[in-house]
Amino acid sequence: MKIDKIAVLTSGGDGQGMNTVINILVRIASLRETKIFGVLNGYRGLYNDEFVELKNSMVENISSLGGTILKTARFEEFKNDAVVEKSAQNLKNREIDALIVIGGDGSYKGGKALRDKGINVILIPGTIDNDLRYTHKCLGFDTAVNNASKYIENVKQTMSSLNRGVVFEVMGRYCGDIALYSAVSTACDILAIPEKPITEEELIEKVNYCVKNKNKAPTIVIAEKMFDVREIAMKLTEKTGVDFKYSIVGYIQRGGAPSVEDKSLAMQYAVRAMELVNDGIFNRAVGMKNNKVFDEDIDVALNAEYDFNYDLLNLFYLLNYKKD
Ligand code: ATP
Repeated sequence: MKIDKIAVLTSGGDGQGMNTVINILVRIASLRETKIFGVLNGYRGLYNDEFVELKNSMVENISSLGGTILKTARFEEFKNDAVVEKSAQNLKNREIDALIVIGGDGSYKGGKALRDKGINVILIPGTIDNDLRYTHKCLGFDTAVNNASKYIENVKQTMSSLNRGVVFEVMGRYCGDIALYSAVSTACDILAIPEKPITEEELIEKVNYCVKNKNKAPTIVIAEKMFDVREIAMKLTEKTGVDFKYSIVGYIQRGGAPSVEDKSLAMQYAVRAMELVNDGIFNRAVGMKNNKVFDEDIDVALNAEYDFNYDLLNLFYLLNYKKD
């Protein structure tokens, strides 16, 4: 199958490395004399037919930029069959041979819906949450953890000097990866993540344990949605006698240049995506396991079992609590 025209879109939350993927896709397309179009604003732009042809000169300096030059959007309407139908029709009208989608779990479902309308789709995991289960690594995760860790480390120094406890909230939706990796890398004391939830009472017990056994005010990292950080910091102050502050790490996690790890991942994902397109193999999701790039059927990818890093979680507990 001769591939003449492809398109790429970014969807959901932005993640570092998305621009690196776009850069590589355009460079490879240009070498193959394939036309490549960027769809602006994710699935909303696809529905509204917002296409722009991408040229090498437009992507020359984007590889190290955070965010996405194509912009992204949350577009709940894409769950509606008629909206997907019209969006697929836009691609067919333009005779696009394949669409590459960079995004997270929700974006993958959108990609699957397009496949069901006869569109050739390739999916690239781009979400700082790292919550696509079939792959160990999503674009943006490594940079987000590095950003969160730097932030936590800086604030921790002040809190520790003042003998204050602190509760950090990091992103991750329903996945504890950012919380776990940043808590381990900054030597925090207590962790609350969806994969190992703890109750308020257990949190209080752990604070008391830390004061008694480590003789210090603890640093706590919680994944978003586990607790209301403001309330829990007040409650911990009241119930333990340790002065607790709270800090929501927030958008700093998404910002800035991609790490070397994310750039290298982005390059490998983009190359694999273009190989698949070139070979006429579609409806695949690319991923990374044990440092090997692979691709998987979209349905298999979306139904994969959760491969959480329990070894790292155990290490966190080993470093912080005595064995009974
Ligand atoms: P992130 O992890 O960064 O939040 P995401 O891709 O999971 O990324 P979502 O907001 O969940 O982000 O989804 C992005 C978009 O994908 C939605 O705004 C919507 O346009 C589309 N989408 C989500 N779920 C579905 C679905 N079930 N069917 C069709 N399209 C969907």
